[in-house]
Amino acid sequence: MKTVMIAEDNDSNYMLMTYILKHNYSVVRARNGQEAIDMAEKGGVDLILMDLKMPVCDGLEATCRIKSMMPDIPIVMLTANAFDTDRRKAMDVGCDEFLSKPVNREKCLSVIARFI
Ligand SMILES: [Mg+2]
Repeated sequence: MKTVMIAEDNDSNYMLMTYILKHNYSVVRARNGQEAIDMAEKGGVDLILMDLKMPVCDGLEATCRIKSMMPDIPIVMLTANAFDTDRRKAMDVGCDEFLSKPVNREKCLSVIARFI
Protein backbone atom coordinates (compact mmCIF):
# COMPACT_ATOMS: atom_id res chain seq x y z
CA MET A 1 0.00 0.00 0.00
CA LYS A 2 1.32 3.45 -0.94
CA THR A 3 1.85 6.02 1.79
CA VAL A 4 0.26 9.47 1.74
CA MET A 5 1.46 12.18 4.10
CA ILE A 6 -1.28 14.51 5.29
CA ALA A 7 0.31 17.80 6.33
CA GLU A 8 -2.54 19.40 8.26
CA ASP A 9 -2.63 21.37 11.52
CA ASN A 10 -6.38 21.06 12.07
CA ASP A 11 -7.52 17.82 13.76
CA SER A 12 -10.99 17.76 12.16
CA ASN A 13 -9.59 18.26 8.67
CA TYR A 14 -6.99 15.57 9.31
CA MET A 15 -9.67 13.10 10.46
CA LEU A 16 -11.80 13.82 7.40
CA MET A 17 -8.84 13.22 5.08
CA THR A 18 -7.96 10.01 6.92
CA TYR A 19 -11.54 8.82 6.49
CA ILE A 20 -11.35 9.49 2.74
CA LEU A 21 -8.01 7.73 2.29
CA LYS A 22 -8.03 4.86 4.78
CA HIS A 23 -9.16 2.06 2.46
CA ASN A 24 -6.70 2.88 -0.31
CA TYR A 25 -3.61 4.31 1.37
CA SER A 26 -1.44 4.15 4.40
CA VAL A 27 -1.52 7.57 6.07
CA VAL A 28 1.05 9.52 8.08
CA ARG A 29 0.51 12.97 9.56
CA ALA A 30 2.62 16.09 9.80
CA ARG A 31 1.18 18.84 12.03
CA ASN A 32 3.02 21.74 10.44
CA GLY A 33 5.27 22.56 7.51
CA GLN A 34 8.49 21.83 9.35
CA GLU A 35 7.28 18.37 10.35
CA ALA A 36 6.33 17.78 6.72
CA ILE A 37 9.85 18.67 5.60
CA ASP A 38 11.44 16.43 8.26
CA MET A 39 9.16 13.47 7.43
CA ALA A 40 9.71 13.86 3.68
CA GLU A 41 13.47 13.82 4.25
CA LYS A 42 13.22 10.53 6.16
CA GLY A 43 11.59 8.94 3.10
CA GLY A 44 8.85 6.34 2.68
CA VAL A 45 6.23 8.86 1.57
CA ASP A 46 4.76 8.49 -1.95
CA LEU A 47 2.62 11.65 -2.10
CA ILE A 48 1.96 14.67 0.12
CA LEU A 49 -1.37 16.41 0.71
CA MET A 50 -0.23 19.83 1.90
CA ASP A 51 -2.42 22.28 3.77
CA LEU A 52 -1.62 25.86 2.77
CA LYS A 53 -2.06 27.55 6.14
CA MET A 54 -0.05 25.87 8.90
CA PRO A 55 2.01 27.12 11.86
CA VAL A 56 5.83 27.18 12.04
CA CYS A 57 6.24 26.90 8.29
CA ASP A 58 3.33 27.21 5.85
CA GLY A 59 2.48 24.89 2.98
CA LEU A 60 4.10 27.09 0.35
CA GLU A 61 7.47 27.23 2.08
CA ALA A 62 7.36 23.52 2.97
CA THR A 63 6.54 22.63 -0.66
CA CYS A 64 9.36 24.81 -1.92
CA ARG A 65 11.89 23.18 0.40
CA ILE A 66 10.71 19.61 -0.17
CA LYS A 67 10.71 20.06 -3.97
CA SER A 68 14.25 21.46 -3.85
CA MET A 69 15.38 18.23 -2.13
CA MET A 70 13.15 15.76 -3.98
CA PRO A 71 11.58 17.20 -7.12
CA ASP A 72 9.80 13.96 -8.03
CA ILE A 73 7.54 13.61 -4.98
CA PRO A 74 3.96 14.64 -5.91
CA ILE A 75 2.54 17.43 -3.72
CA VAL A 76 -1.16 18.35 -3.78
CA MET A 77 -1.98 21.65 -2.10
CA LEU A 78 -5.16 21.92 -0.03
CA THR A 79 -6.62 25.29 0.74
CA ALA A 80 -9.85 26.85 1.94
CA ASN A 81 -9.14 29.80 -0.33
CA ALA A 82 -10.04 28.90 -3.88
CA PHE A 83 -8.65 32.14 -5.25
CA ASP A 84 -6.53 32.15 -8.37
CA THR A 85 -3.71 33.94 -6.55
CA ASP A 86 -3.38 31.04 -4.10
CA ARG A 87 -3.41 28.57 -6.91
CA ARG A 88 -0.72 30.50 -8.77
CA LYS A 89 1.45 30.74 -5.66
CA ALA A 90 1.07 27.01 -5.06
CA MET A 91 2.04 26.19 -8.64
CA ASP A 92 4.96 28.64 -8.49
CA VAL A 93 6.56 26.79 -5.57
CA GLY A 94 6.25 23.51 -7.45
CA CYS A 95 3.10 21.82 -6.24
CA ASP A 96 1.63 19.38 -8.76
CA GLU A 97 -2.09 19.83 -8.17
CA PHE A 98 -4.51 21.85 -6.14
CA LEU A 99 -7.66 20.88 -4.20
CA SER A 100 -10.12 23.28 -2.58
CA LYS A 101 -11.59 22.64 0.88
CA PRO A 102 -13.99 21.20 1.76
CA VAL A 103 -12.41 18.28 -0.07
CA ASN A 104 -14.66 16.15 -2.26
CA ARG A 105 -13.94 12.45 -1.73
CA GLU A 106 -14.08 11.32 -5.38
CA LYS A 107 -12.12 14.33 -6.60
CA CYS A 108 -9.46 13.79 -3.96
CA LEU A 109 -9.04 10.09 -4.75
CA SER A 110 -8.93 10.67 -8.50
CA VAL A 111 -6.28 13.37 -8.16
CA ILE A 112 -4.11 11.13 -5.97
CA ALA A 113 -4.58 8.18 -8.35
CA ARG A 114 -3.16 10.26 -11.21
CA PHE A 115 0.18 10.42 -9.41
CA ILE A 116 0.55 7.15 -7.48
MG1 LIG B 1 -4.34 24.86 8.34
